[in-house]
Amino acid sequence: MSFENLKLHPSILMALEEAGYTTPTPIQAQAIPEVLAGRDLLASAQTGTGKTAAFALPALNLLATPHPSKSRGPRILVLVPTRELAAQVNDAARKYGKFLRVRTVSIVGGMPYPLQNKLLSQPLDILVATPGRLLDHMERGRIDLSRLQMLILDEADRMLDMGFMPDVERICAALPGERQTLLFSATLEGNIARIASQILRNPKTIQIASQQEKHENIEQRLHMVDDMGHKNKLLEHLLIEPGMSQAIVFTSTKRHADLLSEDLIAAGHKAAALHGDMTQGARNRTLTKLRHGDISVLVATDVAARGIDVAGISHVINYDLPKFAEDYVHRIGRTGRAGKTGIAISFASHAERFQLRKIEQYTGQRLEAGVIVGLEPKRANSPSSNKPRGSFGDKPRSFGDKPRSFGDKPRSGNFPASKSGGYKGAGNREGGQGFGGQKRNDGDKPFAKRPARSFA
Ligand code: AMP
Repeated sequence: MSFENLKLHPSILMALEEAGYTTPTPIQAQAIPEVLAGRDLLASAQTGTGKTAAFALPALNLLATPHPSKSRGPRILVLVPTRELAAQVNDAARKYGKFLRVRTVSIVGGMPYPLQNKLLSQPLDILVATPGRLLDHMERGRIDLSRLQMLILDEADRMLDMGFMPDVERICAALPGERQTLLFSATLEGNIARIASQILRNPKTIQIASQQEKHENIEQRLHMVDDMGHKNKLLEHLLIEPGMSQAIVFTSTKRHADLLSEDLIAAGHKAAALHGDMTQGARNRTLTKLRHGDISVLVATDVAARGIDVAGISHVINYDLPKFAEDYVHRIGRTGRAGKTGIAISFASHAERFQLRKIEQYTGQRLEAGVIVGLEPKRANSPSSNKPRGSFGDKPRSFGDKPRSFGDKPRSGNFPASKSGGYKGAGNREGGQGFGGQKRNDGDKPFAKRPARSFA
């Protein structure tokens, strides 16, 4: 099957060729003909399956035919849960609609109103928005939705989790009844099914078991940890592992994301934090740097990192376990993108074994605890048994006699060579820069209880 078979407009086919897409993904092959035929759609597909193009391409196809109305409002509305996803959908619409010259605008919370008012006063084709801010503008009478032809709800499950559904329902009630509606969600159960039955008309249901869902391209590892000091040693070891190109490290709090990223910078890593307390501009700049490879370790919280689509992410590290099992799936899906393989590593303490079980139940996959020689947990704990089973890494990496912590000073020439020819990066810094030659003495304390940058 090729995109030509899907009968998309030649301008869209040109853009796809330029993007290097040759074959539709399963969700695209199934969804595009249904949407082109005018049907509503209820699709379960996660990020990484090509779901954005699955709705964006037929939506753009609609725009290839001019609308008879003289009004200036959007013809396509895409509702998304987060600012990052809005930016991603906006970029995708621009990329695929390049030769159609579509006018697309993104309206999200946290951005100044005057700029958004100006954007909304211009003629536009596609509006990508988070529900709360869109509703604000609708209530102020700033958006003309009279010529809206298609509504797309992207990551509806997440909008539900984040409490956006009352806003979504109010938005739906204000849209023209004669429209096509597409709903994409990681799950189609529970409240999503109820909402779908209210806003979709005789939808075609498509369920895609993605590679990500099955995690076939993502190697999942688990390290049982004693305490935060142990986590830091493991992290520092993993960040210089051969094959590590870019990593997202997840923490459970924004403050911890800031502190950990500062510590990693002090230790010589190209690190940065990403969380919801940062301004949109700062978040965008960080994501651009990540995309360009100027950041190699992003320390992030769940909401901020959702939807990040950067092909270079080789590792996801759950420094703190996610609160909800479904977030585990979203987190690990940040690696193994665009047909690549990835490694997802979770740190868990014995006290968190119930949380681990929940994750295992959700994914239907067992997480086997492994050890890195020299960095074994003191307590031989594993989620399902008393003994760690696997052993990760190619060799003991002892950094002299002791496992290395952030604070240990690397001495050039003292390291045992690994299979890939020795350690690189922060560890080989000369002159005590970064690690500062100091032995870290507060490794066991939670970061939150000590001042930032104490490693420097
Ligand atoms: P998504 O699931 O929409 O987040 O897309 C995941 C990634 O796959 C993005 O980087 C897209 O650019 C890429 N992608 C989407 N469709 C195709 C395709 N048919 N061929 C190759 N790459 C694609």
